Amino acid sequence: MRFVTTSGQAPPASLTWALFDGLAPDGSLYVPERIEEWPPEDIAALPSLSLADIGRRVLRPYLAGDIDEPTLASIATGALNFPIPLVEIEPGVHALELFHGPTLAFKDVAARVMARIMSALHDGGDPTTILVATSGDTGGAVGHAFHDVPHMRVVILYPQGRISPTQEAQLTMFNGDEGSNVRAHALAGSFDDAQGLVKAVFADAALLRRVRLSSANSINIGRLLPQMIYYFHAVAQLMRLWRQDASGGTSRPDAFARPSIFCTPSGNFGNLTAGLMAKRAGLPISSFVAATNANDVVPIYLRTGRFEPRPSIQTIANAMDVGNPSNFDRMLWLYGGRHAAMSRDLAGSSHDDAEVRATIRRVWETRGYLLDPHSAIGYLGVRQQRADAARVFLATAHPAKFGEIVEPIIGRAIPTPPALAEALARPPHVLTMERSLSALKGVLGG
Ligand SMILES: *Cc1c(COP(=O)(O)O)cnc(C)c1O
Repeated sequence: MRFVTTSGQAPPASLTWALFDGLAPDGSLYVPERIEEWPPEDIAALPSLSLADIGRRVLRPYLAGDIDEPTLASIATGALNFPIPLVEIEPGVHALELFHGPTLAFKDVAARVMARIMSALHDGGDPTTILVATSGDTGGAVGHAFHDVPHMRVVILYPQGRISPTQEAQLTMFNGDEGSNVRAHALAGSFDDAQGLVKAVFADAALLRRVRLSSANSINIGRLLPQMIYYFHAVAQLMRLWRQDASGGTSRPDAFARPSIFCTPSGNFGNLTAGLMAKRAGLPISSFVAATNANDVVPIYLRTGRFEPRPSIQTIANAMDVGNPSNFDRMLWLYGGRHAAMSRDLAGSSHDDAEVRATIRRVWETRGYLLDPHSAIGYLGVRQQRADAARVFLATAHPAKFGEIVEPIIGRAIPTPPALAEALARPPHVLTMERSLSALKGVLGG
């Protein structure tokens, strides 16, 4: 499979090129040359497949010719080694819990698959360093995903004193290990300073000839493709539920007869774009909801046909504080730029902090289910949809990850999940780095 660009101004690229380069030479985003539709019998067989099996089947067309079947199998089993359960939290409303990975957020899923694909495509020469500047969450997911993955190293830069202690514990977890391939460096300054250094390094042609560098940000095709997997896995679980009901005597119709609506809490819209691609590949999802916090440029577009990016607004669902979503061009590409076509598949909804807090409290009190602020936006978006459909929202983060927001709302402490407890139990090992290009070059070995 080759990869084309959303603006079509650059030649098609191989998987390896698209992955290791990230942004296309024309400045737009890579997308697959085509999205193959699954034959109906493959869809019908979904309920009998494990998560790793589904991962293999979903990725196969995009890796064909570059990665052989046994390697694909080991990528899928190695990366998808934690559950992604579908939990019915009230009648007909299901949470797809994507937060059981090592850093307790959905980004773990795709980052782990991407790390293993890059390693498999590596030529075996000098290792490639993934350089990331992070304001907190992405760096943790990327560091954990690439930890101990052959041929790959990770250097993370974060603004000292400006991320939460929990995030710092997750980021720096491997700093103390001898020979670790993941190092996080704190630098005096803001996230923008860290980002600025990363950009300067990627603009240094002489350095790039000496050191193999790559990035792993959310626009990389390697993050996009694996996100399709869990939409298929969710439908597989719905189909299993319906079979059980049917054999138990109640008569819920099968997956093809019953509408299903999926809601994805969104910031850069990579997660939702993957869902729309899964639908295009034949997955029986009736429609989607794009749910946002106050950063609602996409819901406004869906209502009015006008896309007007603006500076982001800070909210309590801060991983979704994005004013100019980078994947919007991929959404347009999927629908040939046609607003009417996109809005047949996709509705928008946006929710402010007060609504999110009230919802976390109400769902906790009435259902005993605890939502994090991002997942609460997903829940709100799908709750407004027709009740005769199976309604699914993507639960993108574990509430313990946002304890400082969630605990005061429900008035009690949240138990620390084991993955987080492990990071917090390690002695802190902070590495600081001077805020200069030469210091960063030193760290990179250039
Ligand atoms: C990154 C993130 C999102 C937004 O995902 P996009 O793919 O950028 O739309 C939502 N929730 C959480 C918890 C996240 O970390």
